[in-house]
Amino acid sequence: MSHEITTVLDRYPAYEAVIGIEVHVQLKTQSKIFCSCPNQFGCDPNTNICPVCTGQPGALPVLNKKVVEFAMMAGVAADSDITRTNTFARKHYMYPDLPKNYQITQGEVAICMNGAIPIKTIDGQDKRVRLIRMHMEEDAGKNTHGTGGISWVDLNRAGTPLLEIVTEPDMANSVEAKNYLMRLHTIIRYLGISDANMDEGSFRADINISVMPKGSKTYGTRVELKNINSFRFIVNAIEYEIERQIQANESGEKISQETRLWDNKNQRTVFMRSKEDAQDYRYFTEPDLPPVHIDDAWLAEIKTRLPELPHYKTARFQQQYGISAYDADLLTEELDRAIFFEEAAKICGNAKGVCNWMLRDLLGYLKEHKRELQEIQLTPHGLGELVAALDSGMINSKVAQDIFIEMVETGKSVAVIVDEKDLKQIGSSDELEAIVVAVLAANPDNVAKYKAGNERLFPYFVGQAMKETKGKGNPVIMQELLKKHLS
Ligand SMILES: [Zn+2]
Repeated sequence: MSHEITTVLDRYPAYEAVIGIEVHVQLKTQSKIFCSCPNQFGCDPNTNICPVCTGQPGALPVLNKKVVEFAMMAGVAADSDITRTNTFARKHYMYPDLPKNYQITQGEVAICMNGAIPIKTIDGQDKRVRLIRMHMEEDAGKNTHGTGGISWVDLNRAGTPLLEIVTEPDMANSVEAKNYLMRLHTIIRYLGISDANMDEGSFRADINISVMPKGSKTYGTRVELKNINSFRFIVNAIEYEIERQIQANESGEKISQETRLWDNKNQRTVFMRSKEDAQDYRYFTEPDLPPVHIDDAWLAEIKTRLPELPHYKTARFQQQYGISAYDADLLTEELDRAIFFEEAAKICGNAKGVCNWMLRDLLGYLKEHKRELQEIQLTPHGLGELVAALDSGMINSKVAQDIFIEMVETGKSVAVIVDEKDLKQIGSSDELEAIVVAVLAANPDNVAKYKAGNERLFPYFVGQAMKETKGKGNPVIMQELLKKHLS
């Protein structure tokens, strides 16, 4: 199925694209990175602030240990080298939401260097997107621009801990870029170090794109796409931008180094600002923060906190339960979903059955009702029992669908629902045979037509007989009996 996926590059075989991605992840710590203000989203403007995060002269930053630990967890998950002695640096620039006129970040050496994130290519092959680094830094505040030239500054976000994750330009098309971002997103959520909520800005991707003639050794001028807040928009934006650059190339137009935004309404990228080649941020080592040393014991302890990572879980699910790569990917997309699956499979011993119920009925229900797995009444134990009841023939699949919905909404067990509503499957041949005989006797005209060769009437008889059982008849036995009496 994967080979059917196409990208804009299929229409321009003489070109290739080069994509690198920077992601800013807001870390889910209780307090901010350098002060004790709450790290909370959605509060009234300027309520979670203090002299440190508002950049008052003389206020001294103190590093939040949790931020270092979360960065270490991400680094270990991505097979990065963990830097044992870490310093911070001041990156100078002036902006209304950055009152101290510099951002505290890390300089040339970051806490995590190198590493890689495994992804699938467009053909379903394995590929490792190499990371350059991950570093710790503080977020800036937020400007809101109103009408009449008035703007507001909210500093609640100033000092929110960020982890910036920077890749090598290793991705060749929009599909690889999306697969990288989704995999990284899943890993971050597994680690529990961020909500990674794109709508709320806790997972923000900046995408650098250039195009060049196929086989060229020199990269084209790169353009940065900023602030795109959904995976779907990211694909559209990259596709558009690659085509825009190729067409500029074809017409001999010069691509300028700039930052562009995605205009989703008009489905195009638009100019935001030009970018200097060597921006001089006048980096120097932050004098108010001592270096942070990471010893072997601390690193070893952090390693014990890591869950089984999604790419290992996916491979294990395929092997252990015999399910497809596609299904395994969906089941492991969220950690709680993967745990739910394994617990339910343990109850009934039918992992494929549980997989089908989860991916078709359960995810379908959650999507339709805009709910999360934790918000419904169905437990893994309950789903396991439902699959077992179906497998044992206690209920038929039509009835199982109704029971499933009731379990999701009320949390009742299969046994209780079957009992309350008298839903036990009628599997007795004698009982079903009497119904079949009665149905055929009541429809002599259709029986005659069927016997004259109109076999398309068979489902009609099945439907009539099923109606007589109030949907509880065993469909296999019923069809056998109908065939017997119609021949
Ligand atoms: Zn503060």
